[in-house]
Amino acid sequence: MAPLLEIKDLKLYYPVGRSGLLGKPITTVKAVDGVSFTIIRGESMGLVGESGSGKTSLGRAILRVVEPTSGKVLLHLGKKIIDITSINHDNLRRMWKHMQMIFQDPYSSLNPRMTVRDIIAEPMVANHIAKGSDLKDRVVDMARRCGLDVEQLSRYPHAFSGGQRQRIGIARALVLHPDFLVCDEPISSLDVSIQAQIMNLLKDLQQQLNLTYLFIAHNLSVVAYACDRVAVMYLGQLVEVAPTEILYYKPKHPYTESLMSAIPAPDPDNVMEPILISGERPNPANPPSGCRFHTRCQYVDTKCETQVPELIEYDSDHFIACHYAEELQLKGALEQPAAVKKEHT
Ligand code: SF4
Repeated sequence: MAPLLEIKDLKLYYPVGRSGLLGKPITTVKAVDGVSFTIIRGESMGLVGESGSGKTSLGRAILRVVEPTSGKVLLHLGKKIIDITSINHDNLRRMWKHMQMIFQDPYSSLNPRMTVRDIIAEPMVANHIAKGSDLKDRVVDMARRCGLDVEQLSRYPHAFSGGQRQRIGIARALVLHPDFLVCDEPISSLDVSIQAQIMNLLKDLQQQLNLTYLFIAHNLSVVAYACDRVAVMYLGQLVEVAPTEILYYKPKHPYTESLMSAIPAPDPDNVMEPILISGERPNPANPPSGCRFHTRCQYVDTKCETQVPELIEYDSDHFIACHYAEELQLKGALEQPAAVKKEHT
């Protein structure tokens, strides 16, 4: 399986507050702290974790929309390997042709003063990729693929519903035919009735255009439906990475177990007792020593308080950062995730 992206020890630290004449930062928030993983060409990789775990920061740091503090992002394009973190800004703009993002809030990400036609055309104009009738044809082609009414392309974003605006955002992101798309909570601000339509659209487009996704979400049912593998993030670090069905049925990290126990059960006679995570989420500017989850983990012991667990491959393609990954017998989700159901029927 050919990698599309290799992320190596990526860090994104935000300085917070200023003090003294030189305005030195008072503290540093470690939004992403030493994350390494690989995304395979053509797969959908899910990224889950509670609010403030660093999911969106990681997605932005991979694309260099925000400048990472250190680490590497290697993009494989045929025989070429490009280190996204070391190229200059002109070359970075060229690389964005291969890597795009769709946002959680489709309204604030669209310029209200531009027509939908101009919004979709903008990436091609900025990159001098097409003009004239070729530009128009490409805009119409992508609008159609995204389920937009071509007659409405001369309207402005405010004239569209939330679901249609997200289709416009998807069309703009895909018009350059990128290889890789970061989907940052793409359906969480939409009505429930529209969410399935957008998910199906993203799946269809992935097949048509041979796309690779990093799918950021807090809704675990959505991730189960959309993703081949899932990475779980806690306080700026990955704690478990596994194929979707393994992660949902046989989690090996206590934090993943608690996330799985919170998936709503459709059968009221077969409900799993939610595993409540005790305590507040620690301050990412001052994370706990040892295992970062130790202040909230029900299986904690003294080793967890002082020694940092590395993210280690225990089984084939199953990575876990827990000292007791082999000993603990954890519970998985009760209900078959949709993605697994499909595979087995
Ligand atoms: Fe819990 Fe210890 Fe494993 Fe951390 S290392 S998840 S505290 S058992």
